[in-house]
Amino acid sequence: MRALVKSSKAPGFVLRDVPVPTIRDDEVLIRVKAAGVCGTDVHIHEWDAWAQGRCQPPFTVGHEFAGVVEQVGSLVSDVKVGARVTAEGHIVCGHCHLCRTGNAHVCPNTRIIGVDRDGAFADYIAMPASNVWPLDDDIPFAIGGIHDPMGNAFHTALHGTDLPGATVLVTGCGPIGIFAVGIAKAAGASHIVASDVNPRRLELARRMGAHAAVHPSDAEAAVRAATHGLGVDVVLEMSGVPAAIHQAFALVRVGGRVQMLGIPAKPMDVDFATEVIFKGITVYGVVGRRMYDTWIQMTQFLRSKQFDPTPVITHRFPLEQHAEAIAAIKSGEAGKVVFEIG
Ligand code: NAD
Ligand code: ZN
Repeated sequence: MRALVKSSKAPGFVLRDVPVPTIRDDEVLIRVKAAGVCGTDVHIHEWDAWAQGRCQPPFTVGHEFAGVVEQVGSLVSDVKVGARVTAEGHIVCGHCHLCRTGNAHVCPNTRIIGVDRDGAFADYIAMPASNVWPLDDDIPFAIGGIHDPMGNAFHTALHGTDLPGATVLVTGCGPIGIFAVGIAKAAGASHIVASDVNPRRLELARRMGAHAAVHPSDAEAAVRAATHGLGVDVVLEMSGVPAAIHQAFALVRVGGRVQMLGIPAKPMDVDFATEVIFKGITVYGVVGRRMYDTWIQMTQFLRSKQFDPTPVITHRFPLEQHAEAIAAIKSGEAGKVVFEIG
């Protein structure tokens, strides 16, 4: 089968012919139909400091995908051959303190497909049956293939927030920020301001329902105008850029909530006294998707058609055009980039 492989401790990927994976008794074999490409794949491609510290080549990359179950292990009873599925790409231990208290998304024993074991940019992938998530018949594989980042956005937007009627600022309109705009809209936010430095991404944010989509230098004015000077109830921080993080703390109202998904590239200074404590705000760090509350919410928003992520997918490539796919993400102009595989 074809597989896009991180073959050595150096920049680049290689499209190779490799054996179809064998499955354990508790796993299923999935024929991959579509797979999302993400910033993490770019880090692995570029072989940056994070990738060097984390990854052990050779392995198949890719962690966002959907496909059809081709074979099931002898212990698998709840996943059937022929089922249309996507999957949670974080494989957790199931028996640590966090897993046993409903917090498997922060399991310290997490192994990620396409990072710590073979991933989804291939004709087939082996997955533990417990990670498999069913896909409704009317959800296209391309949408199934982006459930992972869309789930990041659902987690950020919905966990612990009270969105009906809320005013919301989304800082950063990369693919996950754009999803978050649409989710906040679908969940009943009364006013959504989205910020980014990139006009094309601001246009996508408008399409997904932002009431105002502005350059960061205009975000304060947009927020003050929309909230009678108070500041927003909720900030969804989706950039990881220090300037945006400071702006999140500045523009959330006193007593509000900042949901932090974006990952700063290096340590940064925060004036906790004025930015966090005296504002009485709540800060929530987002990791992946809650298992499986986030997946249930995502399925229900898609099933009801309350939320349609289709406009976020801006590029589709065959696996052979992996260089073009990576370049599209590096350009900073793309929404979601998807491989059409099977
Ligand atoms: P992305 O890099 O495509 O999006 C970030 C956006 O922020 C870009 O469009 C950029 O133009 C914009 N930006 C830059 N400066 C800004 C500013 N001052 N104000 C507002 N926006 C600004 O990334 P993505 O794939 O959408 O992911 C978003 C973030 O989430 C990244 O930091 C990524 O590493 C992180 N992430 C976190 C998790 C998690 O589990 N916590 C999972 C996936 C991704
Ligand atoms: Zn665990």
